[in-house]
Amino acid sequence: MPKQLIYDLDLNSITELMNSWGEAAYRAKQIWQGLYRHLYNSPLQFPNIPKALREKLANELNFAGIEPVRVLDSSDKQTRKTLFKLQDGNFIEAVLMRYGEPAPLHLPLNTTASNLGGVSRPKGVDEGGKNRRTLCISTQAGCAMGCVFCATGQMGFKRHLSSGEIVAQVLYYARLLKKENLSVTNIVLMGMGEPFHNYDNTMKAIDRLNDANGYNFGARRFTISTVGLVPQIKRFADEKRQVNLAISLHAADDKLRQSMLPVNKKYNIDEVLEACRYYVSQTGRRVTFEWALINGVNDTPEEAHKLATQLKGLLCHVNAIPLNPTQGYKGQGTTRERAQRFKELLEQAGIPCTIRMRRGIDIQAGCGQLASKGKDADHDSDAPKV
Ligand code: SAH
Ligand code: SF4
Repeated sequence: MPKQLIYDLDLNSITELMNSWGEAAYRAKQIWQGLYRHLYNSPLQFPNIPKALREKLANELNFAGIEPVRVLDSSDKQTRKTLFKLQDGNFIEAVLMRYGEPAPLHLPLNTTASNLGGVSRPKGVDEGGKNRRTLCISTQAGCAMGCVFCATGQMGFKRHLSSGEIVAQVLYYARLLKKENLSVTNIVLMGMGEPFHNYDNTMKAIDRLNDANGYNFGARRFTISTVGLVPQIKRFADEKRQVNLAISLHAADDKLRQSMLPVNKKYNIDEVLEACRYYVSQTGRRVTFEWALINGVNDTPEEAHKLATQLKGLLCHVNAIPLNPTQGYKGQGTTRERAQRFKELLEQAGIPCTIRMRRGIDIQAGCGQLASKGKDADHDSDAPKV
């Protein structure tokens, strides 16, 4: 039996565990704060826990869960992709994107948690400013939705991640950034997998990271992106979470959308938009629509007009990004001029639109490019272990 992953447990479960071991309840709080405030990754680091309990924790529970096996940095050093091996041998990826910051300091490899907290950058140097460190994390190994232009879709579904495996990706990068006295500022659930297909574990992970006595990551700094699973959009609306919602639309008529996103056969555009209207009415929050601009396919003036008509009156925003190349899809990303034209047409019709810059294309870390090449990476372990 593999050991229980500690990040799969919420504070109540850790408290119950301590009870069952005959330990005082406050030990659970100490463990919680050690994990989520101090970012320890081994019980042996907990200074306030007696040695015997530290050893029992180490023997009984798994504090690693996901093992970083390879990192790739983009040439400008602003984007880092890490490949993680899961306990059962599956692979996932998570990407850190830095915005508005000088190139990161060189992070030594093979660093251990015991030398966390290097002081190379003055503390708090940019918190709250325009600088951001956005983390893009995975919710599944592979994906069952089969969107034709997405590398994860092309690899198929392996399995859902547990809540702890989702949390562990965040803690890994949080520890890495802590060495620079920096922290994660935004988390997007836009890595491998469809978060609403793994709804419960995704929400548990968000709740765990959101806990004010722990990692304390504000709900409004998360964004969930879904391919458009209607029942889950409605459920999410009913839960009235403060988490941002993004919908992968990519086409304004069913025929085109269906040819790219097979899920459209199950939930068509009208149903998705109706669920979005319900979300806005329940939460008062704006929805973001994602649109991968594909040359000559969905970047035409006609498509922009159709989209503007569909979205009329809905509290929303369109995030368009030129399609990133993937091995299994022939379509090409749009040109700068065509993207600009698309944006102008939407804005003339009163729909706000942003063209997002491509990030991490040289390391296959752009949207839809995450598909772990696990076999090559099996014995390659140049990723910092933090
Ligand atoms: N499964 C979720 C979240 C992960 S995909 C979803 O589909 O929304 C994150 C975003 O990347 C989605 O908007 C997805 O449509 C988009 N995407 C997928 N492949 C892409 C590609 N090759 N180029 C640009 N965006 C892509
Ligand atoms: Fe899955 Fe999203 Fe990729 Fe579609 S775009 S295959 S839903 S990860």
